[in-house]
Parts: sequence; C-alpha cells; structure tokens
Amino acid sequence: MNVAIIGSGGREHALALSISKSNLLDRLFCLPGNPGTKKIATNIQIGINDFEKILQFCKENRIDLVVIGPEQPLVDGLSDYLRANNIIVFGPSSAASKIESSKSFAKTIMQKAGVPTATYNEFSATELNSAISYLEKSNFPIVIKADGLAAGKGVFICENINEATNIVKAISLDGIFGSAGQKFLIEEFMIGEEASIFAITDGENFITLPAAQDYKRVGDNDTGKNTGGMGAYAPAPLISKELEELVQHKIFQPMIRQLKEVGYPFIGCLYAGLMITKDGPKVVEFNCRFGDPETQVVLPLLEGDVLKLLFSAATGKLDMESVRYSSGCSVCVVAASEGYPDKFEKGFEITGLDIDDPQIIIYHAGTTEKEGKILTNGGRVLGITSVLKNNNLLEARNKAYEAIKKINFKNIYYRKDIASKALRYL
Ligand code: ATP
Repeated sequence: MNVAIIGSGGREHALALSISKSNLLDRLFCLPGNPGTKKIATNIQIGINDFEKILQFCKENRIDLVVIGPEQPLVDGLSDYLRANNIIVFGPSSAASKIESSKSFAKTIMQKAGVPTATYNEFSATELNSAISYLEKSNFPIVIKADGLAAGKGVFICENINEATNIVKAISLDGIFGSAGQKFLIEEFMIGEEASIFAITDGENFITLPAAQDYKRVGDNDTGKNTGGMGAYAPAPLISKELEELVQHKIFQPMIRQLKEVGYPFIGCLYAGLMITKDGPKVVEFNCRFGDPETQVVLPLLEGDVLKLLFSAATGKLDMESVRYSSGCSVCVVAASEGYPDKFEKGFEITGLDIDDPQIIIYHAGTTEKEGKILTNGGRVLGITSVLKNNNLLEARNKAYEAIKKINFKNIYYRKDIASKALRYL
C-alpha cells in the first residue's frame, strides 16, 4: 500500500513511525513532513493547503490511503476534495469537522445525543446586552468561548462579573476573535481533572485508544499561557477500565450515532477532551483529528497494525482487532524555544539527537535541515519521548527527562513536571 500523511508536526512524525512498521506498507510519503519523518518516509514539499497539488501527487504515485493530520485542511474540505476524486482518506469531511471548528455545532450535536457536557448559552456578537444580563444571573467562575477555531486562545475562565463583562465587550465591540467570534458561548465551569481519549471510527463502529493527559500551559504547575501542548503521557491512570467503558457508552457511541443521523458521518479520529467531574465524565471539547502531543505517546503503545486500522476505518469496515493495548507507558516532554508561545528566535543548531536507546523516540516538530545540520524552526521543536513495556510511569518520566538533558540548542525550554499528575496514583 502507498500512503501519504499530510502535515509536518510531531503528531505526523508519530503517525509515520507507526505506519512505517506495517507489513501492508509499500511506500510512505509525508507532505511536507519534517527532518524526522525524512528518516522513515519520503518528504514531498507540497503545502497542506495546496489541494490540487496534493491530488495530483496522489494520482501520480498511486496513493492508496491519505492520512490527514492537522485540523485546518480537514475544516477546509481536503477529505471531501480527495474523496470526490476517488482517493481513500482517513479524516472527516468538512461538515463533520465542524465538531471542532464550531463549538456551537458541537454543543448542538451533544445535546441531541444526550452527551454530558457543561451547560451553556450561545450569543451572537451583536447580543452584548443579553450576554451581560445572562452573566448577571450566573455563578462564577464562568467560561467564555469563541465559537470558531482560535488556536487555543479563544477560551477565557472568568472569576467574576467584571472580568466576564470585559471579555464579552471585547468580543462584541472590539472583535478580538475576528470571524471566530461572530458567535460565542458562555459555559458552566466544570471542576475535575482532564484527560483525552481518541476514538477511531468508520462513521458507525469505533474503538478507543489508551487515555492520555496533556499539558497545555507553558509553565510548570499549569501556569502561564496556553500552548499547542508542552507534553503528554499515557495511559492516564485517572481513566479506569470502568470509566473508559462509561466514556464509550455515554459519549462516543451516542455522538458517532448522532453525527451519522444528521448526515455528517465522522470517519477518522474523534478526539474527546474530557473533564472527570464528581458526577462522571463530561465533554470539554471535541477535536476532529489526532491530538498533538497525545498521539506521540498513544501510538507507540499499540500492538498490531496501525495502517490496517486507519485503512479499515477509511474504507468503512473498521477492523476492531487490528490493534490492541495490553501494557506499557509513555511520556513525551516537548523541547520548545524560550519565549514560545509568544516571540521566540529560531535557526539554532540542535545537538545530541543521536540518542541510541530503543526506549527513546525523538519526534521532530519545529525543526529544519540546512547543510547537514538540524536547526530549530518553530516554537515546539522536539518531543522527547520514552516508551516502556512496563507500566512504571515514574521510570518513563525519569527516562524522558534524562534524554532531554542530552539534547541542546540555544534557548531550549521545557516543563519539568510532565506526568507528575500520574505519580499520585502509583
Ligand atoms: P484547544 O487548544 O484544546 O483546541 P480550545 O480553544 O478548543 O482548546 P477548549 O479545549 O474548549 O478550548 O478549552 C481549553 C481549556 O480550557 C480546557 O482544556 C480546560 O482546561 C479549560 N476549559 C474549557 N472549558 C471549560 C469548562 N467548561 N470548565 C472548566 N474548564 C474549562
């Protein structure tokens, strides 16, 4: 089988690594990929938004399966475009991707499906007065969210009415979210601990992968700004077998069924961001693709054939036996450029990448290659990841941190507390 992966981050490197192990694979391409994927696949310099060139490439190279990593091309309709041209795709249609690109749409589907989530009210940017009246009757803290994609910057947790009023004014009057804020949600603040679970689905049947926890904030102890993700670990001991089954039955099953019923069957990876509250698991958000950096810790734990899984989902005949999880754990620490998620410098040489340890994977994300050297080229540069066959998360965490100490580039920054939430369960 010839496979093309769309994207260039750590998530796509992890997908490429898992797919590269499949016996079904003939040729693997990454469009555009990164210096890490170059070692296991052929990188092709075609941008993720260049739909016509992607299609032409797929035809010329007899691609049997396209796996789309990031949300933007999904939301923009890359799956639809390729499918209309008889290419098999793992990734939802633009309509089904609204589960991520419109929080209002996601809430409507959740309500119809009876999926537990925070109570909310929705306002258009012109309804400032109604929003303020609603806030006057609300309990605090409260959460205000832009409807559309805002790269993790569209969510505000407000402690009191003054803060909340200022935010809704900024959305309504100053248009701080642009088109993403034409609608916004005011939502109940849920108390609990968060976890992410991926479901791989062909639009009807699904399997869930081991639960992960990610670290969104830039600073230790969850302080500072939100980022694309500073690290992750799996499996999350917070999610017991019973909880996992509850999430399958109360969240994924009704959601996947409902999406199909409204005419938007979801084929791909449905990502549930969950809050485990005292009343059980509730949905914080859905994403329409694999999470980054959770994918980097979840995929290496799977036994079996990931390509078989993704191909079977993409062709509407999910093979529930293609992968399984029996034991093992993984910790990924993101090495970032100091200053990220704000201003940072790039172009620094990275050394120490030649770690020869079967328990360590170094995923590339914001890197580039120049004259035989690997240079920093983004905010999140590398994902230093340990993968153990046993379930000792403490050992996995120590291994990841030992490995990251061997890596060097100017202005390297990483969190020191990845996987600490798991340790209290040990
Ligand atoms: P992402 O960067 O994950 O795509 P997003 O912009 O889609 O983020 P959400 O995932 O909905 O936004 O929210 C971001 C974070 O804000 C959550 O991970 C959670 O920590 C917090 N949060 C969001 N909604 C709630 C809520 N109702 N109650 C408590 N915390 C919340």
